[in-house]
Amino acid sequence: MDNTIPISAKTKIFCLVGHPVSHSFSPLIHNYWFKNLGLDSKYIALDVDPNQLKQATMGLKALKIEGFNVTLPHKENIIRLIDNVDSLSQDIGAVNTIKNEGGKLIGRNTDALGGKQALLDVGYQFNNKNVLVLGAGGAAKALCFALVDTVDKLVIANRTLKRAENLAKELMKKQETNIKVIEMLSPTLKRELDNIDLLINATPIGMFPKIGQSPISKDILHNDLFIFDLVYNPFETQLLKDAVSIGCKVLGGLDMLINQGALAFEWWTNKKPNKNGIKKKIIEIFGMK
Ligand code: NAP
Repeated sequence: MDNTIPISAKTKIFCLVGHPVSHSFSPLIHNYWFKNLGLDSKYIALDVDPNQLKQATMGLKALKIEGFNVTLPHKENIIRLIDNVDSLSQDIGAVNTIKNEGGKLIGRNTDALGGKQALLDVGYQFNNKNVLVLGAGGAAKALCFALVDTVDKLVIANRTLKRAENLAKELMKKQETNIKVIEMLSPTLKRELDNIDLLINATPIGMFPKIGQSPISKDILHNDLFIFDLVYNPFETQLLKDAVSIGCKVLGGLDMLINQGALAFEWWTNKKPNKNGIKKKIIEIFGMK
């Protein structure tokens, strides 16, 4: 039976603001949860040019939109256009979720906590762990800030060393953790990997359409590694295939995507969404593992 609530004058609207947005899973995810919980709400995707972000944000505020997500390329620029952000988002310098609280737009970064929650959901224990992050861009930064106060050692490996050094400096201002920076080259990675428990790919290597590529050579992986690939298209990347074939435990980016959405949804609605239900639905629709 179709239990969709028809749109009426009472329907609450949520949205995604990005450029482009047509590939986004967010409308599918949030509308699934609204329907699943019988909420009279709808989620749409809005393509906003970078030079129109200010007008769009003021428009959403004037329209009393309850909440919205922000994606590339607006995650950093939105900060100066909203009324307040939490301290984690301030540190990361980016927000992806906004709630209208009594006319004030408040920002959070649910990518950071969504990534951490995805690992917690599969029972990952962070204590006494050494973590290596591949990449030093937006996603790497979010994950590093989410994990820096929980893990023993953080190694950041990036193609551009300077970018990793800058990220390490920012992290050290926050937490006096053991942080090391290396170049993303096989011999350097190999030396480091022996002492690593959790390997996180925060580069786009392996993402559609270049699905045969992996950011790290299979022959330097070892089976004590837990490997978390943030790439979610495809759901099972070449890195994850390689890792599974040598006996590693793995997690794909779809779990992070769902968790960042779940944290936003819960903040907006005070309701817990069904994370397993939407994961099954996405896999069913897109017909992949
Ligand atoms: P970004 O800010 O552009 O950063 C990309 C990072 O990857 C940089 O460190 C860059 O190194 C490195 N990189 C890119 N191409 C490379 C190559 N060919 N060889 C070596 N290094 C390369 O991107 P992002 O927003 O962090 O996104 C990274 C990935 O995470 C994307 O695949 C994205 O889809 C995924 N992601 C997933 C989720 C989720 O919910 N699952 C959320 C956010 C992002 P340089 O500094 O040298 O350029």
